[in-house]
Amino acid sequence: MSNSSVENVVIIGTGCAGLTAAIYTARANLNPLVLEGPLPGGQLTTTSEVENFPGFPHGVDGFQLTQNMREQATRFGTRFEQTLVERVDFTSMPRQLICSDRVILAKTVIIATGASPRLTGIPGEKELYGGKGVTTCATCDGAFYRKMEVAVLGGGDSAAEEAMFLTRFASKVYLVHRRDTLRASKIMADRAAAHEKIQMVWDSVPVEVLGVKDGAVSGLKVKNVKTGAESVLPVKGIFVAIGHIPNTGSFAPPLEVDEGGYFKPQAGSQVQTNVPGVYVAGDCSDHIYRQAITAAGMGCQAAIEAERWLAEHHHE
Ligand code: NAP
Repeated sequence: MSNSSVENVVIIGTGCAGLTAAIYTARANLNPLVLEGPLPGGQLTTTSEVENFPGFPHGVDGFQLTQNMREQATRFGTRFEQTLVERVDFTSMPRQLICSDRVILAKTVIIATGASPRLTGIPGEKELYGGKGVTTCATCDGAFYRKMEVAVLGGGDSAAEEAMFLTRFASKVYLVHRRDTLRASKIMADRAAAHEKIQMVWDSVPVEVLGVKDGAVSGLKVKNVKTGAESVLPVKGIFVAIGHIPNTGSFAPPLEVDEGGYFKPQAGSQVQTNVPGVYVAGDCSDHIYRQAITAAGMGCQAAIEAERWLAEHHHE
């Protein structure tokens, strides 16, 4: 394994957070190196149209939006490389990123590896995911289901929140949960249970997404776990909200994570980790907002912090 020269800043991840960090550090003449993982462009590329990113009054295609950010980062000199960081050694300076083919040395590191929505794995889910009726983001895709019936899967705060949000558009929202009480906080659970458009489907697990042959969701087969009875919900949209899996495994330890596996920034900062000069941004550390615009904001914060750190430690 050969070592490369020492980078000023290495950004891991090419979603909104990583690309925004790249734009800022490139404009600051730091010549950033961005490492791309298995899903270039991040979660945005799996949604169709983004209607809530400021600056696009008529919406923008998710893939196009990340392409635009990438082009913007490239314009200021960002370099991109496709490689997977397998583990890190942050015990000394420069920091070491151990990849399958080499070791990358960096003075500062911005980790923006995102989170992967947890999926159920039932038949039809993968085939109809992203623009064909199965999605993991009501804020992104809810408006496409005006006056239609939809189902939300899950029983946590996300599921309750998604269901409430969807009542703005859908004619009816089935909330399918595998138990007979929601895990969601009481206020959220009560609000969802009381809403006239939300119908609870208790003790039920999803079994199959229907419509694969036609390329669009035509229904959801569910099974009552107590009676074993199967039925079909006549929905056009299925919102999977059974949690996210933050992509933090290669970095923790040494980086601190919370009980959900999300990076845990230091008190008083949204992006500073427990290792000096190492920052986190976007969905790998944010389990509350999880929006493209908030991820971009964190990427900006991390970039400015890295820039300041380099200015203060230029003699090292
Ligand atoms: P979560 O709290 O982990 O809930 C996941 C839900 O999905 C649980 O109800 C779980 O069922 C269900 N589930 C998991 N795997 C399943 C499977 N294979 N099939 C069917 N159901 C499955 O996740 P979350 O709702 O995304 O929330 C994550 C964190 O963010 C929580 O701390 C939450 O409080 C927070 N959050 C807060 C807000 C807010 O305050 N506004 C909004 C969103 C999220 P069981 O209940 O049976 O385990």
